[in-house]
Amino acid sequence: MSEVLVTEKLSRRYGRRWALQDVDLKLPTGRIIGLVGPNGAGKTTLMKLAVGLLAPTSGQIEIFGASPWKQPLQVIRRVGYVAQERPLYASFTVRDMLTFGKKLNQVWDENLAVNRLDQLGIPLNLRTNQLSNGQQAQVALVLALAKKPDLLILDEPIGSLDPLARKEFLQVLLDEAATFGQTVLLSSHQISDLEKFCDYLIILSSSRLLVSEDIDQLTATHHWLTCRNEDADRASRSGKVLEIHRNERTCRLLVKADRPIDEAGWQIDNASLEDIVLGYLALRPESTKQEMTV
Ligand code: ATP
Repeated sequence: MSEVLVTEKLSRRYGRRWALQDVDLKLPTGRIIGLVGPNGAGKTTLMKLAVGLLAPTSGQIEIFGASPWKQPLQVIRRVGYVAQERPLYASFTVRDMLTFGKKLNQVWDENLAVNRLDQLGIPLNLRTNQLSNGQQAQVALVLALAKKPDLLILDEPIGSLDPLARKEFLQVLLDEAATFGQTVLLSSHQISDLEKFCDYLIILSSSRLLVSEDIDQLTATHHWLTCRNEDADRASRSGKVLEIHRNERTCRLLVKADRPIDEAGWQIDNASLEDIVLGYLALRPESTKQEMTV
């Protein structure tokens, strides 16, 4: 199967508030998939649905062809999940956590875990509540990696890491994924990190899916277009306009265009991934509901 996660009209409600609405996704295997969106967009909800910690209110979700809620055993053995709150047992030492992981999982790579912790300088005899936030994040990732999952789901794993640790953490993920063909789904607010390490992007906002696409495809189809003010209407018809800025003489538009734009006198520049993400997030929810599912 070429898709690791498939959803159809996936929706989840808490009381009367929708956390996720009508999400249709088909995520390819073997990719590093970034998940972005503002606070409260529904990222954690999507991840919890993917690991069977929540049931959908309506719609479907399948991981490797099985329902995480109805067939949890089929899903859990193939999925590693590091939750945002990184629940390590406070009274356990790091070594206890490794023993716990080994007992709980059919597949367990003890060497990988011990070597990695050694590289990071994290002593096995320390209790997890004696570790810094960043070290706890590293331990949680090592525990997830040692399980050798086909799909690794990481909810904001790098928020508490310093810049060097963040880079190293993401590099380890990339190397692991490349070696074992793992798929990684990670949420983050650090768009520049996602740009460096991910090759596929999901954007959620206000419980809706805005984008699910290859990053190469996204950057190839989104441009900044600068033209004279009198050409603005024509320019805005060259694609889907995400942003528009005017000054006295010129107009600058962020445009999604599937075909090349080639117009004498117009300046076309590549849009960065950060520009693209911010452009989508700045759209009003009303317009995103009707128009912006890519
Ligand atoms: P963040 O970036 O802040 O972590 P998120 O994108 O992960 O946000 P979710 O945690 O999925 O967002 O929350 C989506 C929506 O669901 C929010 O409006 C949130 O208030 C609501 N929500 C999440 N969990 C619960 C809960 N247990 N009970 C009630 N509402 C909840």
